[in-house]
Amino acid sequence: MEADVVIIGGGIAGLWTLDELLRHGVRALLLENRALGFGQTISSQGIIHGGLKYSLKGVLTASADEIREMPLVWRECLSGQREPNLSKTDVRSHCCYLWQTRALSSQAGMLGAQLNLRIKPKNIPDHHRPEILRDTPGHVYQLDEQVLSPRSLLNSFRSRLSPYLLQVDETDGVQLQVEKTGAISAITIRHDNREETITCRAVMMSAGVSNALLSEQSGRKQSMQLRPLHMAMVKGPLPMFQGHCIDGAKTRMTITSEYLEDGETVWQLGGNIAEQGIGQTSEDLIRFAARELNQILPALDLSNLEFATYLIDRAERKVKLGMRPDTPQILKHKNILTCWPTKLAFAPRVAERIQKLIQKEFGIEKHSEEWDIAPLSEWKTPDVAAPPWSRAEVWYDAQGQSLSASGTQTPFKQAS
Ligand SMILES: Cc1cc2nc3c(=O)[nH]c(=O)nc-3n(C[C@H](O)[C@H](O)[C@H](O)COP(=O)(O)OP(=O)(O)OC[C@H]3O[C@@H](n4cnc5c(N)ncnc54)[C@H](O)[C@@H]3O)c2cc1C
Repeated sequence: MEADVVIIGGGIAGLWTLDELLRHGVRALLLENRALGFGQTISSQGIIHGGLKYSLKGVLTASADEIREMPLVWRECLSGQREPNLSKTDVRSHCCYLWQTRALSSQAGMLGAQLNLRIKPKNIPDHHRPEILRDTPGHVYQLDEQVLSPRSLLNSFRSRLSPYLLQVDETDGVQLQVEKTGAISAITIRHDNREETITCRAVMMSAGVSNALLSEQSGRKQSMQLRPLHMAMVKGPLPMFQGHCIDGAKTRMTITSEYLEDGETVWQLGGNIAEQGIGQTSEDLIRFAARELNQILPALDLSNLEFATYLIDRAERKVKLGMRPDTPQILKHKNILTCWPTKLAFAPRVAERIQKLIQKEFGIEKHSEEWDIAPLSEWKTPDVAAPPWSRAEVWYDAQGQSLSASGTQTPFKQAS
């Protein structure tokens, strides 16, 4: 089988790029060894940031500068006015709320205006506040950043691209054929005792945390850093709510919501709390999360809610010690492009850049003849990864006491 480009890794970066390449007439395939979006994309809070979060210190960081174009691109794709048409994706909200816990009441609004962000926070009158922010002191702002369901986004790409998405075995499903020059000339793929070799002119590595391993397998030094997060989740009779609680120049907590199958709602709690949670046990983080929620959302009753946590790494290109990359990163070595989008919101940017590099650096142009992918027609299409709350084995109450699997509290005191 011959392809122009093989993409390894079906998170948002690989999927959006595959879509872009196919639309430009490039013969591209994507390999996935677990499930689409497994790792970062499915865990993402799904916020299409417009830059405010990255400019709270009062300077227009590279991230804020580049990301301010992203919400419009996504908005057009999500409404079907631009390719890829993602209009089947569930948009959980067209805006986020922004509120503060310190007396810096007008800082967010001022900064947005000063920094010329496309999306600026709007001060909303008290009677338009959502009920959950009823007792919050200070101003409440509305920020027109969309929040989407990552699972539904991954499903949209799966339906658009299924013939070009190939499931491979988790271990040894991908074997790279590396030439003396360091270029990859072919990839042998395996799944359930089937095998196929695909020759290719370029390879994109978009395997998130596994980019390091793939780099080593292709004989290069890896240049990746991991940023661990300990995310808390809370479920129950909660309202759908998306917002950032800002404390000085920090995001104290970012809350995003998703519907559960039983009609209840689950919140993901990110931001500073997820960074501080590293090194804490689940029970400690849950107690911390409950205290934080009490302080930042005084109207919220925690008594019937259930909590769980999970650990996850953000994979980024290595930058100076202690620093974080601001923008999407692509590393070129021979015919290999390794990429870290840095944020979900940057996926369109990654795809556009890879498509241009493929054309410019490797001379890969649109084909005039149809591409016969019949030899792969029986190959399994990967599923979409399960969201983190459906993988949580233990749920706890707000005091960090474990609840039974059925979700109800046991009537017995825990043995000491
Ligand atoms: C908790 C959390 C919240 C976030 N919230 C936001 C947010 O609100 N907004 C935002 O813009 N960004 C957010 N991000 C960042 C964003 O999720 C990531 O930047 C983005 O999803 C990374 O996508 P990716 O495609 O590079 O990697 P991933 O999503 O990690 O995908 C990698 C894929 O490669 C596959 N793979 C791995 N190894 C192999 C192999 N050997 N062969 C084949 N396939 C392989 C994996 O199974 C996986 O499907 C968040 C990140 C986290 C962790």
